[in-house]
Amino acid sequence: MKFPVRTAAVSFLAVFSILITLNPLLSGSQKQLPSYYQKIKDLTARIEPEIVAIRRDIHAHPELAFQEYRTAGIVADYFQKLGLEVRTGIGGTGVLGVLKGGLPGPVLAMRGDMDALAITEETDLPFASREKIMVNGKETGLMHACGHDIHTSLLLGVAAVLSQIKNQVPGTILFVAQPAEEWGDGADKMLRDGVFRNYRPEAIFAFHVDDTLKAGYVHYVPGYSGANCDTFFLTIHSEGCHGAAPDQCVDPILVGSQVVLALQAMISREINVHDHTVITVGYFHAGTATNIIPDKAELRATIRSYGDEQRARLKEKITRTIAGICQSHGASYDLNYQFGTPSLYNHPELLKAILPSVERVLGGKDRLIEDRPEMGGEDFSYFAREIPAVMLGLGVVPPHLEKTSVHSPTFIADEQAIGLGIRLMSCLLMDYASQPAGRRVKDFKK
Ligand SMILES: [Zn+2]
Ligand SMILES: [Zn+2]
Repeated sequence: MKFPVRTAAVSFLAVFSILITLNPLLSGSQKQLPSYYQKIKDLTARIEPEIVAIRRDIHAHPELAFQEYRTAGIVADYFQKLGLEVRTGIGGTGVLGVLKGGLPGPVLAMRGDMDALAITEETDLPFASREKIMVNGKETGLMHACGHDIHTSLLLGVAAVLSQIKNQVPGTILFVAQPAEEWGDGADKMLRDGVFRNYRPEAIFAFHVDDTLKAGYVHYVPGYSGANCDTFFLTIHSEGCHGAAPDQCVDPILVGSQVVLALQAMISREINVHDHTVITVGYFHAGTATNIIPDKAELRATIRSYGDEQRARLKEKITRTIAGICQSHGASYDLNYQFGTPSLYNHPELLKAILPSVERVLGGKDRLIEDRPEMGGEDFSYFAREIPAVMLGLGVVPPHLEKTSVHSPTFIADEQAIGLGIRLMSCLLMDYASQPAGRRVKDFKK
């Protein structure tokens, strides 16, 4: 369709002025962006190839929890070259890099985890892992199937960018390279080993790759976003007897089956519908033959919930239910109930304070997605119990895929997310550190 030139020019101007009015990023606020936004963008573009190369190297050489010696070495060397104060061997293989800014301001922290998984990689990436380890006497592969290679690289990237503008950085930024997230206790070990002994951050931030969003998108969850990951190990004992004479002994399979069903009924009848709870008995082993009632049944379960009160309540209810069922059958049992990784709480006020920065870097609200909480575990929660914390989900689904799955041998991440993640975290830290103390979230323990 052809328009007379003048009409086209007029409508273009009209549309342009409407756009300017509607989109604050195109109007005044673009000019109001702090000068470091452009600087961070330029610096990120400059270091991105190097950081991507490091990511590929880490990806090709994955290491299991608490064995991240090579990775920790790369991190420590890199921090040292940047001129950061460096501490190593924290909580095993953890590394802390301290960047002291040239302006007065708070202590803030960024965390990246370093460990990989015992999974044999099945991607055809040129830097796919070929590493092997023995697990329970069986050879298996090792793979960065949860994106921790990207998290570690982002840590280096942000440290590199902010080091280059350190005279403009308010306060101190801590870069925390953490071991053993997959085992759920690397963060706890670092805290116990005094990672924040000399510098206590008043807020801590982290990314986790998001395997449902394309690169260029970020998700966030206000409040609880990861569950308490608790466990029980239950053994139901019997003397064992002939399958044709079941009155002669306790049947531990029957008792165990009733435990499984009673726990599901307990969730539907005893737990408030708003109190997210999952109990999965994922392990139920008993018996050797069709005609033998075995002398024991072993059950193991994962119990997922949010908050300390709910986990304590569940422990009490599960213990009572198991005791009642076993007692009614005259069965003896051993129950070992363990609290694991606590639930992850994204501090809502801190989140509110930093989301405008994320939005500015993403270039608008439509790339920032509020998500629902999940019942998965993430040991960043140990930091979040000590210090106001926020974890953001960084989209990594490559353009040619609908989705990709973490913890799968075919997990692939779009490296476009790396540059974006570096810019996001750098701007976020700079913006938040620049806020006056009264507008920052108060530390729980101060
Ligand atoms: Zn994982
Ligand atoms: Zn992970």
